[in-house]
Parts: sequence; C-alpha cells; structure tokens
Amino acid sequence: MQNIKLHDKSFELFLAEKDIHLAIKELGKKIQADYKDLNPIFIGVLNGSFLFIADLIRQFEGNCEVSFLRMSSYIGTKSSENIKTLIGLNENLKDRHVIIVEDIVDTGNTIENLFELISKEEPASLKVSTLLFKPDVYKKDIPIDYVAINVGNEFLVGYGLDYDGLGRNLKDIYVINS
Ligand code: 5GP
Ligand code: MG
Repeated sequence: MQNIKLHDKSFELFLAEKDIHLAIKELGKKIQADYKDLNPIFIGVLNGSFLFIADLIRQFEGNCEVSFLRMSSYIGTKSSENIKTLIGLNENLKDRHVIIVEDIVDTGNTIENLFELISKEEPASLKVSTLLFKPDVYKKDIPIDYVAINVGNEFLVGYGLDYDGLGRNLKDIYVINS
C-alpha cells in the first residue's frame, strides 16, 4: 500500500518493512557487541515501542531481560508543575545495565524525563535506543546512543507509531502528506 488514510489525514509510504528490519538488524549487532556478557535489561516505553523492542531483542544472543513502562504526567499542586512518574516498572534496576527502548525521539522532552527518573534507580549503566530519531529537532544533551533510523521533522505513523490511536499495526512506516 502506497497511500493510506487515518482519521482525517492521508499518509504515504516512507520506510518499507524490509528496510526497517535491516536497520534493526544492524542496530542489534552493535548492542550485541556492547552487551553480550552483561545481562542487560531492555525497557520498552509503551505504547509505541512494542513492535520495535520485540524485533530488537530477538537480535540479541545471550542473557537479557525485558520489561515495559509507561510515563504518566499529571499537574501537581501548583498549576505550573508538570510532574512525571513511571508506571509499571517492577524490576529492581540497581546495578543493572539498562537500555531504554523508545519508538521515536523528537524534541527529547520525554527521554529527558525518563532518563532522570530511571537514573534515580542507580543502574550500573543507562543508555537510550530508539527506532527513529529526529536529530534536527532534538534539543537535549542526553546522548541517544543507539539509533536505528534518522529522520527529518515529518510526522510518521506505523510499526508501533500512531496517529490518534490508529496505525500502530501497519508493517511499514508512513509520512503525513503535507
Ligand atoms: P519528544 O518528547 O521527544 O518531543 O516526543 C516524544 C513522543 O512524541 C514520542 O514518544 C511520540 O509519542 C510522539 N511523537 C514525536 N514525533 C512523532 C511522530 O513523528 N509520529 C508519532 N506518531 N508520534 C511522534
Ligand atoms: Mg514514545
């Protein structure tokens, strides 16, 4: 399918399934080389990363663990406070080698918050892996260590990424028509 419609917007094919899988395979090799004897714990950030983490961890040969979390934000007692918390993290991360697995890093606000919250658990090491990275938009200092595919500043859907709930099941990645 070259063109699709989700809600009120139309999208065109951007990255084919086979190219996504090739990029993940390459990334998997790097992570394999860096972590093979470290029993890392991959932490997928829900919802968007569920397909990526499933394919990424199957490139890893050796012991590893997998977990998921979700970020929640709520307005604190002062109206200006935007407090972020982690939901669903049950594992003890102290002294573990942790790899955060994201679907996409855009401005970096989300990953900055996550990085800070997970750092408090005192992991032995903490790195970030993402399927898609928008380097021209990224504004933060946290290194994005493992990137499968660099993209521009377009809105993308498919392979886990949604537009208002739809599109996560698409095998390919699509870009919004301008
Ligand atoms: P950031 O905090 O880095 O600006 O954005 C992170 C979140 O914004 C992502 O986890 C994702 O939910 C959403 N996002 C950013 N860019 C895109 C995009 O191109 N497509 C979709 N579907 N979501 C995006
Ligand atoms: Mg996300």
